[in-house]
Amino acid sequence: MTYRGRFAPSPTGPLHAGSLVSALASFLDARARGGSWIVRIEDVDAPRTVPGAADDILATLAHFGMHSDETPVWQSERGAAYQAAFERLQAAGFIYPCGCTRREIADSLVHAHARHATLAYPGTCRNGLHGKPARAWRLRVPDGDAARISFVDRWQGPQTQDLATDVGDFALKRADGLWAYQLAVVVDDADADITHVVRGADLLDSTARQVYLQQCLGVPTPLYLHVPVVNNGIGEKLSKQTGAAPLDRHAPLDALVEAARHLGIEASADTLDAFYRAATAEWAKRFGR
Ligand code: GLU
Repeated sequence: MTYRGRFAPSPTGPLHAGSLVSALASFLDARARGGSWIVRIEDVDAPRTVPGAADDILATLAHFGMHSDETPVWQSERGAAYQAAFERLQAAGFIYPCGCTRREIADSLVHAHARHATLAYPGTCRNGLHGKPARAWRLRVPDGDAARISFVDRWQGPQTQDLATDVGDFALKRADGLWAYQLAVVVDDADADITHVVRGADLLDSTARQVYLQQCLGVPTPLYLHVPVVNNGIGEKLSKQTGAAPLDRHAPLDALVEAARHLGIEASADTLDAFYRAATAEWAKRFGR
């Protein structure tokens, strides 16, 4: 198999110590396998995209010695691919329009919760819109045993999620007309022939949805590896919202050594080349070549 991995930052702000860990892990995994590493700019969520952030991320990665092996993919240019996948799912009867507002879903969930049900979308519009206008489009998840999706994560071990009880039918096209992350990521990974996904463990919970969507579209499921997220001093995931500081582009080694340490790798070095050699060798010992 030709290894193809990716790093898929959302351009909502500059790279920080948390996103560096995901970038580094995906890069080391690709290097350890002699594979390709491709950067994808996940700017599908236009309202959250910060102008200039994507170029800033690419420049920082370059300063840190990580260069995409192919021209970076921009989700904002891939609307036609998402539309084509959406139409295939529609023709096959996998998706349906949903007229529920957030408020209506929240209210029905409060009610469901009182009956000790879980907080999944209750499927209100599965059999019709009840006269309401269509807002979002949802993928119908299976019922019963077929709803249990299992996969083995290379870091986190065996995982199972029951899509019916934990998630419910999930949106592929949002009420604001934008493509949902779940659709974009599955279509992009498939079109780029991604074989290995390495990313932060905050996305572990999305993986079963992506595996199911791959099955609906008839595309292969990559192998997954979710690295522990970096928290700030009070246990919150580092992010722009929790005040993560941007990386200092001019002092890459310290930040890289720290990111490697978070991954359980000791790779102190004087140059970027020596760092990547040492870190790749350590990664290969743990996760194979
Ligand atoms: N764009 C997502 C993020 O920055 C990552 C998506 C993925 O790796 O699948 O959190």
